[in-house]
Formats: sequence, structure tokens, C-alpha cells
Amino acid sequence: MNKDPLKTRSSKLPHVGTTIFTVMSKLATETGAINLSQGFPGFDCSPELVSLVEQYLQKGFNQYAPMTGVPALREALAQKAVNQYNVSYDPETEVTITSGATEAIFAAITAVVRPGDEVIVFEPAYDSYVPAIELNGGTPVYITLAPANESAPETHTADYTIDWQLVAEKITDKTRLILVNTPHNPTGRVWTTTDLDQLANLIQDRAIWVVSDEVYEHILFDCRKHHSLMTHPVLQERTFVIGSFGKTFHITGWKVGYCFAPRPLTTEFRKIHQYLTFSTVTPIQYALADYLKNPDHYLQLPAFYQHKRDLFLDGLRQSRFRFRTTEGSFFQTVSYADISHEPDYELALRLTKEIGVAAIPVSVFYHRKNDYRVLRFCFAKDDATLIEAADRLSKL
Ligand code: GLN
Repeated sequence: MNKDPLKTRSSKLPHVGTTIFTVMSKLATETGAINLSQGFPGFDCSPELVSLVEQYLQKGFNQYAPMTGVPALREALAQKAVNQYNVSYDPETEVTITSGATEAIFAAITAVVRPGDEVIVFEPAYDSYVPAIELNGGTPVYITLAPANESAPETHTADYTIDWQLVAEKITDKTRLILVNTPHNPTGRVWTTTDLDQLANLIQDRAIWVVSDEVYEHILFDCRKHHSLMTHPVLQERTFVIGSFGKTFHITGWKVGYCFAPRPLTTEFRKIHQYLTFSTVTPIQYALADYLKNPDHYLQLPAFYQHKRDLFLDGLRQSRFRFRTTEGSFFQTVSYADISHEPDYELALRLTKEIGVAAIPVSVFYHRKNDYRVLRFCFAKDDATLIEAADRLSKL
């Protein structure tokens, strides 16, 4: 008998390999390059938050948390939704704590997608969405967004803006879910209220749900506002709104996220969550509940990151890269069309090895690996690191 199951059964995810984030971070470490590839802060979180976690560890909060999350944290999040967006969720039945946004995205997709369902995916798309759709038997239906400077093929829209007519044409009786990500990774694009209205008009009379990945909800620039899908009444009642403390409090390694959704959706969401992870790390949840009591901890983020974005871009202006300033997230995409005709993956490898700066090639976020000669840099780094990186990049 053949003991290797992959010789007799094909892989459930034949196109999936190791993620680009792992590949590029490993290469950056091996070569000693400045790592602007994988998105994570290069500085530490607040000592106050660390001390809160320590206190809860010492006090013995070390056993399973409730399946849905620690009540104090769910209540703090529900209060945050009221303060920030004036939207009420019942912390008991409509807010769930998860092991990172990644888990929440998987649980939400699994809660609603059945074999044969179609799911609208705007690409470039974060890498965890499509595998989750496919593992549930769904079919991704792509809306391809391209940078503005591209002489775009017919199906592409300009500067990553959404052609809502095209979206309308892609919706069928089989469409069950639409994935939204604002502020967007990797392009930094931020949805406007017009985008929200357009989406609402398209789905209001249909059995279509929405997963809205809003992990960068607190990182917006130039006085922009985050328009959460929970602020639109038509969308609110059919959307899983997902967030992550990793981005907001510089703790990507702690993997704590959350999901707001109306009761019927949360009921189904929790059925999946309880068998994916059951519950999320206990002492950190208590610490976060305390830490959230001071809204300054997230309200100062736009100014904090605007300084970093502007510092990095001031340096990059001396280079031959072209860019439009990012609207949100801690990513900046740049075009290198004036510098090289190399494929973006190859340039990303060469930059790491020869120039000493690691980036993410944006083609990896497209299912057909569309190469618009664009790289993504993460500017969540110390000022000195950003200045040095821009300096190195200007030599190219
Ligand atoms: N979200 C991060 C990024 O886009 C990476 C997270 C991961 O490595 N899975 O770079």
C-alpha cells in the first residue's frame, strides 16, 4: 500500500507554497538586509501593556478563556464601536475574540461559504482569503485592480479604484460572499462612503454576506477617516467586521483579533471558532481590556505612522521609484518601471541581496501573478532604519 497520501490523493491546496512573507523575511535575516518586506513593527509595544500582561500572568489568569472571549474585552470592544462609529453591538452575542484576524477571516468564510458558492475577491488580495474560500468548496471570482500608470487591459480599473459596473456584472445567483479590505494591504487604498453605498446597492436585495478585513482601521493618513462597513446600516446587518490588536498596539506576535457581526452571523461564526481554536490566550485578553480603556492608545496612531510614512517618502523622493502616497495601512507601493524591466519577484530578491533592502513583489497578491513592476515596502520601522533604507534604495 502506498503510505504517502499525496501520491494517491492530490493536495487540497495545489497552488499554495510557503508564503512570500516567510520567504522574504528569511532571506532578509540570512543576508542581513533591512527588512521592509513582511508587515510587522520594528519597534516594541508599550511597556504599560507588557506590564499589564505580566500582572495577569502572575495573578494566575492562565487557564482557558471563555470560548467567545473574556467578557471585559468584548465589552471594551463594543464600547469602542460606539465611541468611534456610533454603532451598537451586544458584547454577549455579537463580539467574538479570535486568535488573530487570520482566524477570524477563516471562521467567517467557513461560516457562510458552501461548495459551489462564488466569492468576490478584489485583487491584489491578502494571501489568506483564497485558500479559505477554496477549502470550503467556494470559487473565487476576481475583480482585478491595477495601478494608475498601467496601460490597463480591458478588465482592469485604474489606480486600484473599483469599477462598480464590473462588480455588478460579476455578481450571479451563486454569489454568496464579498471580501473587503480597507485600509488595503498591499495598496494602502481606503474605501470612501461612495464605495460603501455602491456595495450596499448591489447586495441589499440578495443573500450575499460580506467579510470586511479592517485590521488597519487606525492607520490612516492626511486626516482621512476610516469608513467601517459597520457604519452603513445595509452593510452592517450582513457583514463580519474583523480587526486585529496586532496592528493597532504593535503586537503582531500575540495574535489576538476580533469579529463584530449581528447575532445570526455571530452564532454561525462561533460554531466554527470553537472548533478552530476554541478560545484565545487568556492573560493577554485581560490586559487588552484594561489597555483599551484609554482611547489615546489608538487615537495617536495616525500621527505616529504619518511621521514614518513621510520620512520614508522624503528619502524615496531622491530615488527613481515612482509612487502615489499611501492613504492608509503601514505599506507603500512603488513603481520601478523607470528603473528596470526585471520581473518584480526577481527584483525583490536582487534588492535584498545587493542593495540590502527586502520588499514584497506585488504580483504575489494576484492569482495570475500580474506584474505591474510594483514593490511593497513596510514603513513600520525605526526612523533611522527608514532613512537608511531610503538611502540605499536611492542608489538603484
Ligand atoms: N500581514 C503581513 C503582511 O502583509 C504578514 C503576516 C504574515 O506573515 N502572515 O506582510
